Amino acid sequence: MDSFIIHVKNPSEKLTMKAVIWEGKPYETVVREVPRPTIESPTDIIVRVTTAAICGSDLHNYHGLLGGSDVPFSMGHEAIGIVDQEAAKASCPILFPSLPPPCLPHTPAAEYVRVVDGDSVLISIPQGTEHELDYLTCADIFATAWTSITQTGFQPGDTVVVYGAGPVGLLAAYSSLFRGAKKVYSIDHVEARLARAESIGAIPIDLRRGDPSEQILKLEPNGVARVSDCVGMECVNPSLKPQEGYILNDAVRLIAERGGIAITGAYLSGPRDKGEPRQGPQWATVPFDIAVWFTKGATINGGSVFPSQQEPTLKDLITAGRVRPGFVFDHIIDIDQAPEAYRLFSEHKIQKAAINNGEGKDGDVCVRWQRMVSKVHTYRLYEKSHVHYLRAYFPAVPHPANSASLGRPPLPLLAAPPPTSTTNDTPKCCRFRNASRALSRGGRYLNRSLQQAPSPTPPSRGPSQQPP
Ligand SMILES: [Zn+2]
Repeated sequence: MDSFIIHVKNPSEKLTMKAVIWEGKPYETVVREVPRPTIESPTDIIVRVTTAAICGSDLHNYHGLLGGSDVPFSMGHEAIGIVDQEAAKASCPILFPSLPPPCLPHTPAAEYVRVVDGDSVLISIPQGTEHELDYLTCADIFATAWTSITQTGFQPGDTVVVYGAGPVGLLAAYSSLFRGAKKVYSIDHVEARLARAESIGAIPIDLRRGDPSEQILKLEPNGVARVSDCVGMECVNPSLKPQEGYILNDAVRLIAERGGIAITGAYLSGPRDKGEPRQGPQWATVPFDIAVWFTKGATINGGSVFPSQQEPTLKDLITAGRVRPGFVFDHIIDIDQAPEAYRLFSEHKIQKAAINNGEGKDGDVCVRWQRMVSKVHTYRLYEKSHVHYLRAYFPAVPHPANSASLGRPPLPLLAAPPPTSTTNDTPKCCRFRNASRALSRGGRYLNRSLQQAPSPTPPSRGPSQQPP
């Protein structure tokens, strides 16, 4: 990393940046100083990343289950940033022949990223930083959760069960409640996650107390209409031991006749490669109790999600102040803290971390990173240094709308997130929130959210909360 060659027109310009890199060792990421990306084709756009998120999908990389044939590679796929106008004027001043291609910064857990075909893959969001974390969720997790509920065949008034109360599972529960679910059960084995689910109006089910189907069928003897699996291949049974197909089979026991199941958590398999040392064929097939399913005739839907399809709806709901999906973030960190955040996230000790790289300034054009195709394709493409999986739109005129400029107060949140710093599950990482970064937009967002009085009762879900 220390021998790349640099040709530069403006010697005062900083030529390198920090990026979160996976170097082929499972359960380990590092922050490296790497060359800043430059425009290599007329359709490239350089984006200065203001906030990137660490996603559960990134943990598949982190665990060595997914990543392709080349290491090292840079991490991440959820980000908000600002178009780097200066880079647009420069003419490729940097050359780095000694760097392996995957190390080039095409993924956004870094300070800058080169977006191939930027005009068609970036999307504008309102100026300002007020709802940065809310918009950030649209790049993947909110869109994925929202789609999962749609794929169950959900109708207002349905009872919903969501396996997993990580960021996607929480937002699936949140989406169900917002869209008019009668009841939502949220299953997990991590107390902090169950508490968060309860705080938004879901009924927590502790996996450690036994099969969720058994627990919930005592309360819903006829089964439930809709089930969303937001866990996927790394699922565990009530003894917290990995068990292939555990959730799918439990869901089939739980589902009502003619109900709908969506499999949203990832299932991936393939030949073991350099970038995926723990990959294997073990998840290509799972045992499935087909007789139980057959007698019920439930639908099974799911698969990879295309966030851009949900984008207009979700962006408008956020802009209008009707949803606040950013509640899933509980830590705002500096990029240097990313390796520790990955570890704590992998150990379920933090809910969702955002890597904050600093404020924008007046006149910046805000854009959001938008992911388009399956995670498998995403990472396969990473190794080719392309980002053609991104697709959205990017109006030339900055979007002026936000909840304030609409001239009306935002609707109440479904519920306020509980203060997480009081749990024993968050030992070292609490310092992240107390760092100077708390003064950043994310810190203000969290502080403001925490000041909301927790709702003692589940929020009413009248027609006014139905999406347009
Ligand atoms: Zn993601």
